[in-house]
Amino acid sequence: MIIDVHGHYTTAPKALEDWRNRQIAGIKDPSVKPKASDLKISDDQIKKTLEDNQLKHMKERGLDLVIFSPRASFMAHHVGDFQVSSTWAAICNELCYRVSLLFPDHFVPAAMLPQSAGADPETCIPEIVKCVEEYGCVAVNLNPDPSGGHWTSPPLTDRHWYPIYEKLVEYDVPAMIHVSTSSNACFHTTGAHYINADTTAFMQLVQGDLFKDFPSLRFVIPHGGGAVPYHWGRYRGLAQELKKPLLTEHLLKNVYFDTCVYHQPGMDLLTKVVPAENILFASEMIGAVRGVDPETGRYYDDTKSYLEASTELTPAQKRRIYESNARRVYPRLDAALKKKGK
Ligand SMILES: [Zn+2]
Repeated sequence: MIIDVHGHYTTAPKALEDWRNRQIAGIKDPSVKPKASDLKISDDQIKKTLEDNQLKHMKERGLDLVIFSPRASFMAHHVGDFQVSSTWAAICNELCYRVSLLFPDHFVPAAMLPQSAGADPETCIPEIVKCVEEYGCVAVNLNPDPSGGHWTSPPLTDRHWYPIYEKLVEYDVPAMIHVSTSSNACFHTTGAHYINADTTAFMQLVQGDLFKDFPSLRFVIPHGGGAVPYHWGRYRGLAQELKKPLLTEHLLKNVYFDTCVYHQPGMDLLTKVVPAENILFASEMIGAVRGVDPETGRYYDDTKSYLEASTELTPAQKRRIYESNARRVYPRLDAALKKKGK
């Protein structure tokens, strides 16, 4: 089985975006603020958006299952206050839940959180409870920078975030560290802010001792870990200077990298540097980079083709990256699959 741990509902019906635009307009002019019940999206509309897009590519590429969360760039936790984020997160999470009901063999939901710049992370707990207990979400996306590129929150190792970690540990649910759209013109959302954030999150973890407090907490750093694998020597050296244990001890029992790297040399580097036990197959399809690479004739985000061509990995290691690592890091996914005899 091939499990893709990183997919978003980027192809949701236009009605969702229209509703969100009205919600944002309603921050300044409450008379135009829509109700959650104003959003009407039918099952047939949802089916069509997936059959024409993600499911089509999954079939072509031989992917079985995607851990599917709301569109990351649309989370926009810097917009409005907690109430705005809370209503928006509830709508987006419910849509992904509906996707998982319509295609139970192909999509398993993960939740976005109703984070809001300046709000106490504790406010996210009720949404986590609902998403895990009622929707069967197997993971959450945690935004380390709800300000959208201005980095006004404390580092991920700060006690500020502990209420969320306590809940994740209680549920045995991992978090993908995933920022949203950039509201800072210096940082392009997917080309700079995402990759910066992946790298920044990792360095925060190097500096801290978070996993001493939460030995079973698990983070997935997406987009191949940002710049981290390429600069592995730098992080090993910095950890050493900070008198931290070796990275294998300090972080690699709790931190995983996905394979959203869009060229062969990048995948070769990732799989050479990071132990196979810490790599999870993912493509973030359909996401940031949607085109076809003229050099290969393949979609840039066809990450399976790079993994297949990787000479660094044994067949057993590839199987781990495709399936068994995901079952280990996302125990609720494993339990749901076993329940179906898979
Ligand atoms: Zn993503």
